[in-house]
Amino acid sequence: MKTGKVIQTTGGSHLIDCDANVFTCTIKGKLRLKGYRSTNPLAVGDIVDFDESGEDTGIIIKIHERRNCIIRKSINLSKETHIIAANVDQAVIFYTLRNPETTTVFLDRFLAAAESYSIPAIIVFNKTDIYTKEEIEQVAEIMAIYAEIGYRIIPISIKNNKNIEEIAEVLKDKTTVIAGHSGVGKTSLINTLSPGMNLKTEIISVANLAGKHTTTFAQMFRLPFGGYIVDTPGIRGFGLVKLKKAEFYHYFKEIFETSHGCKYQNCTHVNEPGCAVKTAVESGEIAWSRYKSYLNIFLDDDDKHRVKEV
Ligand code: GDP
Ligand code: ZN
Repeated sequence: MKTGKVIQTTGGSHLIDCDANVFTCTIKGKLRLKGYRSTNPLAVGDIVDFDESGEDTGIIIKIHERRNCIIRKSINLSKETHIIAANVDQAVIFYTLRNPETTTVFLDRFLAAAESYSIPAIIVFNKTDIYTKEEIEQVAEIMAIYAEIGYRIIPISIKNNKNIEEIAEVLKDKTTVIAGHSGVGKTSLINTLSPGMNLKTEIISVANLAGKHTTTFAQMFRLPFGGYIVDTPGIRGFGLVKLKKAEFYHYFKEIFETSHGCKYQNCTHVNEPGCAVKTAVESGEIAWSRYKSYLNIFLDDDDKHRVKEV
């Protein structure tokens, strides 16, 4: 028997990383973790026991208990959930002011979701090489907002190889979910950190072999210096699932802290009198953009919206 980590799941076959080898495994019978109602029994990041059944193949006999897992509602079966990734240590979100534009609402939705899973989030500000002087100032202001809240921020330029060592250090030996709009530089980072690695292309070709599948799967890449990156299909894979609307503000760290000063205990910080949050927004203590994101989620959220959000 061997123990390994699931790095890709496609239909009936699963890739398991074990002692720097990749095994293609099937799953034994109806193996399910108790307490999960999920469309997929197995997710990337799962630790499994398997018996070898041939050269580089095996049969999964046990899924280890998960430390945590990121889920979203299944698109077709609304009562079931889909597990995006298990045993995640941290989340990295990419921000670019332009090419493509990342809105602070998009960023804040992601940060709130990470907070709801108690997964620490790090914000990477990429493409610092392309900005004009004014844009550099704009980005600096945004970075200051998040640094003040307590998020770790890392400005980088993959193109100019700036601050790449700092990211490598953050990712080393951790399982990290990486997200951001298409075009922000996620693939470039993986390629920069893993020169000569063809694991990604290998995995994609295995996925293609498995034929058509409607669900977008998360993929996991092993870093040559230790650690794994989970590449999720946009923020969609990281939505605010299973959260009570009235509790959304708990996941905006600074809004939650300030809310203890509100007159009413059940204050939603929209238009109640004696709201400490609104007072803090007016005085500039809480950034207007953050409050706007909170309102955006609070006033404009329903299940459909959450699933469709990209
Ligand atoms: P992904 O969709 O998030 O995986 O983004 P990609 O890694 O495919 O990058 C999209 C484009 O942005 C590519 O043309 C990259 O070469 C480019 N790019 C990535 N990082 C940087 C950067 O730091 N500076 C500049 N100027 N371009 C970058
Ligand atoms: Zn309030």
